[in-house]
Amino acid sequence: MSIPRETIEQIRDRSRIEEIVKNYVPTLQKRGRNYLGLCPFHKEKTPSFTVSPEKQIFYCFGCHTGGNVFSFISKMERLNFPESVRFLGNLVGIQVHEDRKDEGTEKREYLLKINRYAMNLYHKCLKSDESRGAMEYALGRGLSAESIDEFKLGFAPDAWDFLIRHLQNKKVSLATASDAALVIPSKNREGGGYYDRFRGRLMFPIFNIAGDVIAFGGRILGSGEPKYLNSPEYELFSKSSVLYGLHAAREHIIDMQRAIIVEGYLDVIGCHQNGIRNVVAPLGTALTEQQVNVLSRYCREIILLFDADSAGIKASLRSLDIVDTKNVDVRVAMLPDGDPFEYITQKGAREFMSVVDSSIGPVDFKIKRVLAESGNIDPLKVLFLLFDVIKDVRYETERTRYLKKVSSLLNMDEHSVSSDYEKFVRGLREPKHYSAETEKAPEKEGFLVRSYRELLAIILLYPEMTEQAVIDFSADEITDPVTKNVFTMITSLYSEGKAVSVDIMFDYFPTGDENSLLETILAKNFESINYKDAYTEIYINIKLFNINIKIERYVELIRNSRDNDTREYLTEVEVLRRDKEKLLSYMHQKH
Ligand code: ATP
Ligand code: MN
Repeated sequence: MSIPRETIEQIRDRSRIEEIVKNYVPTLQKRGRNYLGLCPFHKEKTPSFTVSPEKQIFYCFGCHTGGNVFSFISKMERLNFPESVRFLGNLVGIQVHEDRKDEGTEKREYLLKINRYAMNLYHKCLKSDESRGAMEYALGRGLSAESIDEFKLGFAPDAWDFLIRHLQNKKVSLATASDAALVIPSKNREGGGYYDRFRGRLMFPIFNIAGDVIAFGGRILGSGEPKYLNSPEYELFSKSSVLYGLHAAREHIIDMQRAIIVEGYLDVIGCHQNGIRNVVAPLGTALTEQQVNVLSRYCREIILLFDADSAGIKASLRSLDIVDTKNVDVRVAMLPDGDPFEYITQKGAREFMSVVDSSIGPVDFKIKRVLAESGNIDPLKVLFLLFDVIKDVRYETERTRYLKKVSSLLNMDEHSVSSDYEKFVRGLREPKHYSAETEKAPEKEGFLVRSYRELLAIILLYPEMTEQAVIDFSADEITDPVTKNVFTMITSLYSEGKAVSVDIMFDYFPTGDENSLLETILAKNFESINYKDAYTEIYINIKLFNINIKIERYVELIRNSRDNDTREYLTEVEVLRRDKEKLLSYMHQKH
């Protein structure tokens, strides 16, 4: 970061978040210790946007957006972190001296500039007379001239040096263009030349959330392999965190509180072109966790609408597994045939939306899949496949409802089905058939991840706990990378004698999964808890958990080793058991 830390702190000290926010949120009013108003980041009729003057943070319970005063400006004015520091500096009258940009920022900006240049060049090319064939292809597929402009579609002519010649005229370094994955160094040419990556393709620029083009997808005109060629991942482009069309869809996703996910570039554009604008697509893969995290900040519901073929169904199933644990509802819609682009282009927005609105929940979808694929399978086997789906349903009442449904679908007696289900579940717990290790692992992970995240919340919301936590825990023991990164930052700030609090952490994690985690922590600021007791409970839980894992591991070692070398393990187990007892007795004293 090029802005001196002291300047950032001065600006922070001078800016009262409640006053800054008030400029943008006229409805903001004092309510007890906090301020409440209508959220500027999503449409709402009753206020759920909260500002805490004490902690200098804001948080919206409706759209889960939150952060410190810099994040507020950055979201409101669509600026990155240094830009929002400068903006706020101007507002409160503190000059930010322009340091020389650090190398990283400079490189990033250069890469963005090359991408933008290539995008404009390809776009101009598509609209030129020489590319009539490509334009005919695009229009013939059903893309409108407006969409071509809005999504900045382009054409890369079938030549090895189309982009290269233009870059050379502009005196742009080809090495950097190669870092941006636009040109490729040629292996078998003397003197290290380069050639264009995209040749003879209709170009779909891929934008990040800020609206900068960072990569391309190129479709071959007509048939040929590969059908789509995408930029490989590089410094600015990580497939798993980008959603195609998000820059155009974001506002609409927030407005509708719903995102529709389709498979391809054309599907996204086709929907937008027909007035359905809350639509995005992953980049040719199943939905990733990061993509869901991004969406869950904007909306409460995700509709998966993949192609009506087996690949589409598989992608839906895989995506469901990802969304399962997230703070957002997911539903699956199925087209009668084809893909969303064909469907909406041929049938129009109305019929398209009726498919979307006929979406079903994940369990119903999975049940439907099992039944569709069951064919001539023995009904009892089908029943067990369905049990396997139902066992993941969290609440008993809901499980009962599904069991009832399944009985009637298979035409079986409801009571017998329930009692078979009980047997099925007991069977799962039998260690004989299932390895305890693999069965319990995900649950364990989940528990630890949650506990460490709660620990972070306590440290960050009650900074007087920092010292204790830094003594009691170490970053090395945390496996969840997001929590680990935040905890590492806390430890290093603490050891430098700097203040640690949730609002400051937003400076260090202005984007990404860590930022999302910090946002979820803000929600807890408005709950009143006895934080010291909560800390103790988390402490005991985590320590006990780790001790139990270690004991299990030693027990396993003892079981698998020859008699003579178990003594050492036994001692270890004994020590661990004693530690455990100490913790347990401490816990009982407390309660
Ligand atoms: P079209 O109708 O022109 O075939 P489409 O978007 O319907 O386009 P699909 O085959 O359904 O194409 O693929 C969906 C998405 O998967 C594409 O938009 C692209 O992102 C990705 N994709 C498809 N084929 C490839 C490929 N060979 N390599 C990389 N990505 C691909
Ligand atoms: Mn398709």
